[in-house]
Amino acid sequence: MYNNMKYFLLSITNTCNKSCDYCVVKPWLNNPEFPDKATAQDFISFLSKEMRVGDVVEITGGEPTLFPELIKLLEFLKKNEAKVILRTNGALLDKWRADYENMVVVLAKHNTDDHTIERLKRYLLPQDLVIDDIPGDIMQKEQDKPIFKADNISPLKTHSFAKMFHVTNDGKVRAMSCSKWDMGTIWDYKPQNYLCCPKCPFMLGAWNLIARLKYFLFCASFFPMYMLGDIN
Ligand code: SF4
Repeated sequence: MYNNMKYFLLSITNTCNKSCDYCVVKPWLNNPEFPDKATAQDFISFLSKEMRVGDVVEITGGEPTLFPELIKLLEFLKKNEAKVILRTNGALLDKWRADYENMVVVLAKHNTDDHTIERLKRYLLPQDLVIDDIPGDIMQKEQDKPIFKADNISPLKTHSFAKMFHVTNDGKVRAMSCSKWDMGTIWDYKPQNYLCCPKCPFMLGAWNLIARLKYFLFCASFFPMYMLGDIN
């Protein structure tokens, strides 16, 4: 079953409330030359052509909680039983997070003050992760050149995704970010056949996070009170 899983990386907005020095998408952020073009419905229409139950959708930006229709997208993904990863700096993270047990939130601290991070942690579920700092040796230095290093949090060195799609908010679809294989746009996309590399760092990051989701939901099914704990 795993060999048929697909991984969708959606960069849903170029808006961000921060301007981190090391940001690999900085040239696009808050830049009037690169406005957001795709709506939640556009992403949903595209996903409806390719996504199946159990597939993985990672949502990023910019800062995805600033995308006005984030909840509409999350509702579609929950209804269609997708596993979701949300990478956020916590800008508009709130109680709504608890509505999506099918999701892992990766909350990155960046330069947010400790008091705010402590407040945001209250919204997290046990499967979620707080990244206080990005170690220099694993920090992505260039766009499209991710680094993956196995550690305690991400021990799995191979993934079983068959395909990856990277969709940006200008509507472009690429087969793999590293190859920049242009597959048209979400508005004219037609399904295509190809296979991804099992050691792709983009996909390994997502695979490890989803393993985390499966582990915590498995625990919660036996020990429901476990879901009230705080692992961070
Ligand atoms: S919060 Fe994320 S998207 Fe925003 S500037 Fe920092 S690294 Fe880039």
